[in-house]
Amino acid sequence: MTVRVRFAPSPTGKLHVGNVRTALLNMLYARQQNGTFVLRFEDTDEDREVVGAEESMLEVLSWLGLVPDESPFHGGDYGPYRTMERDARGDYKKALQTLFDKGMAYECFVSKEELDMIRRLRTSRGLPPGYDNRHRDLSEAEKAKYRAEGRQPVIRFKLLDGPIVFDDLVRGKVQYLAENLGGDPVIVRSNGVPTFAFGGAVDDINQDITLVIRGEDHVTNTASQVRIFEALDATPPQFAHISLMLDSDGGKLSKRLDSLSIVQLRAQGYLPNAICSYLAAVGTSMDPTPGDLQQLAQKFNFSAMGRAPVRFDLEQVTRLNATLLREMDWAAVKPYLMPFLDGVKANEGDLEAFWLAIRHNVNLLSEVRSQVDLCFGDITPATLAEDDRAFVRTAAETLPKGPYTSTTWNEWVNALKTQTGRKGKALFMPLRLALTGEEHGPELADLLPVLGEQKARDRLAKAAGGN
Ligand code: GLU
Repeated sequence: MTVRVRFAPSPTGKLHVGNVRTALLNMLYARQQNGTFVLRFEDTDEDREVVGAEESMLEVLSWLGLVPDESPFHGGDYGPYRTMERDARGDYKKALQTLFDKGMAYECFVSKEELDMIRRLRTSRGLPPGYDNRHRDLSEAEKAKYRAEGRQPVIRFKLLDGPIVFDDLVRGKVQYLAENLGGDPVIVRSNGVPTFAFGGAVDDINQDITLVIRGEDHVTNTASQVRIFEALDATPPQFAHISLMLDSDGGKLSKRLDSLSIVQLRAQGYLPNAICSYLAAVGTSMDPTPGDLQQLAQKFNFSAMGRAPVRFDLEQVTRLNATLLREMDWAAVKPYLMPFLDGVKANEGDLEAFWLAIRHNVNLLSEVRSQVDLCFGDITPATLAEDDRAFVRTAAETLPKGPYTSTTWNEWVNALKTQTGRKGKALFMPLRLALTGEEHGPELADLLPVLGEQKARDRLAKAAGGN
């Protein structure tokens, strides 16, 4: 059987690192198993929907390399890929009819106020909060009376008492008693729109989904859904509930969308592979090591996953990012780097030399900006002691003629060594200060070709106290 997995966000906002982790693990598993990765939008909550959210989610996923095989934008044999479109063609009505025919669904007219009261009452009696299934067996006359009062019913699924057991690829055997799940779940709201628990289960059946990988916050929904699958005469898919991801303080990621959305991380200059390498390993027994999606897919393993909630550690992502940047040549980095070089006037050859000179000194692509002036603009000259100024004057006189290559630096300092007798820090530091204005920075051998003869001469002259 072909593996089919799906990522099913609601188009209600930005994707944070937790959502993306779910998408990534689905994708990695699909790739490892030569399966299919489906992107499906659960657009059942009109009030919370954000215009353009679908497109921006797809943009983020694509930037990360998580391109779905099937989606509203890519098509596929199992479309449509939006809940409301599937609703319009009658998918849920059909499933609902099956449940009504079996006596497994019913109309419930309990109002919000009554539900609150039931909850309070149950809590005060030490019972699990929730609904007490009081409208399971209403007579036609009772229903007519509620209708006459203008009440709009919801439809609930009959969750009969008894054990519910399913195997989870992360959590092992999961068991619940149906009577502890908070009462019969709503499957269709009073506005006629299916809830995600019902709609999602019907979609999973109709789209031949073989494994549901999602956050552990859904694990009790799964218990009810297992019963819904059975009532619809379908074998439930396999399940893998991954541990919840929190921010570094243990707070909810959804509250940190300003700083931990993928859009934000991208703007800071994090690479897709750094984010994905981290998210593939966090919460598992594996250390995060940088890799591309293919390598991550090979290593993917449910049995390495822990059950405890994990905290997002941006420093680890930054370290992975730095490691990846140090290994990237110009062709590899160019598409990611160019947005950060907006407005920089330099030809491609110079930009490549610039990148090779600075790649060991940046952790994030946004830091590149601070190196632009160093290479292409003006620096604040460092103040040197008198004897260092004299040395820099000699250095300027010895500076070879351009154009410069990767060997120019060595030729120049070797000559200077012989001429002045200086070595080590006494030799290098005044040159570094003169050429960059800073005590630390890129390798000077790499930097010299980027600066070129004129800029190098000007800076040496300034630091030596000339012109
Ligand atoms: N729309 C649900 C969510 O974003 C989907 C849950 C699922 O994967 O079934 O949480």
